[in-house]
Amino acid sequence: MLDVPFRPADPLYERVKAVIPPVEWAFFAGDIAAILELKRARNAVILAHNYQTPEIFHCVADIVGDSLALAREAMKTDAQVIVLAGVHFMAETAKLLNPAKRVLSPDLDAGCSLAASITAADVRLLRERYPGVPIVTYVNSSAAVKAESDICCTSANARKIVEGLGVPRVIMLPDEYLAQNVAAQTSVEIIAWTGHCEVHERFSAAEVRELRQRYPGVSVLAHPECPPEVVAEADFTGSTAAMADYIGKYQPARVVLMTECSMSDNVALLNPAVEFIRPCNLCPHMKRITLPKIRRALETMRHAVTIDPAVADRARRAVERMLAL
Ligand code: SF4
Repeated sequence: MLDVPFRPADPLYERVKAVIPPVEWAFFAGDIAAILELKRARNAVILAHNYQTPEIFHCVADIVGDSLALAREAMKTDAQVIVLAGVHFMAETAKLLNPAKRVLSPDLDAGCSLAASITAADVRLLRERYPGVPIVTYVNSSAAVKAESDICCTSANARKIVEGLGVPRVIMLPDEYLAQNVAAQTSVEIIAWTGHCEVHERFSAAEVRELRQRYPGVSVLAHPECPPEVVAEADFTGSTAAMADYIGKYQPARVVLMTECSMSDNVALLNPAVEFIRPCNLCPHMKRITLPKIRRALETMRHAVTIDPAVADRARRAVERMLAL
């Protein structure tokens, strides 16, 4: 066990001091130092989703981003061990794309309401009901569901994937709101499933209007997992990566992100001139991943993510088709 006393001048603390008070840093510093040492010893990298808390995102992660970026970058790493600081379907996707590597999830119970909304049997029934209609599955789904699908998509590339298939009608799973938001932008007919993200479904158009009244001039950026009524009220809609790029490029004086609340902390640290208004909707699944659990994963080399090889081959094909398009 490696425990390091709090050092106010720690260069890592400089990165996050705007959002983490010294008293909290005192709790984090020992785990951070231990994780950095364990990464070297284990030849490991840590991939962290944009919804991870700043002490993970800015202090121990090697690769950060949205689901698509993590999936892509996971394929480039030379490390033998990948720790996925994110929810289970992300760890599964990293394993699909890196079958020879050891992929560790710090908490196997870090799930997702979207991924839990549909099973492989549901997808098979849909295929029977709509023969010949391609199935486009959002990466926020289990490997078993991906395996029953023709191609995957992310919130960043969903429209491109749907249109790239060159067909008049597709089935899009499992996020109903993402499907409706894509349907509003394309002439392709979309048959949707009724899964929802429990974080984004809580935002409403009335909340956006109230925020605009309380914070005049605020730029409203929404994630496409939000209900269409929220997207209709927003100034910009995009994936977490697209929202971060928008803020970096346009530097709005005041911004509100209609998405998981750690995202605002992470982007705010990179854009100190931008004022962030923070309605806080936490993802309880993302928040299961903590520094002590990442440290334990590296100490014990658990929990290794495994996927049935027959399922993995078919699921990998759906992800690789997306990456190729
Ligand atoms: S934020 Fe929503 S989509 Fe993302 S992991 Fe949490 S429940 Fe799933």
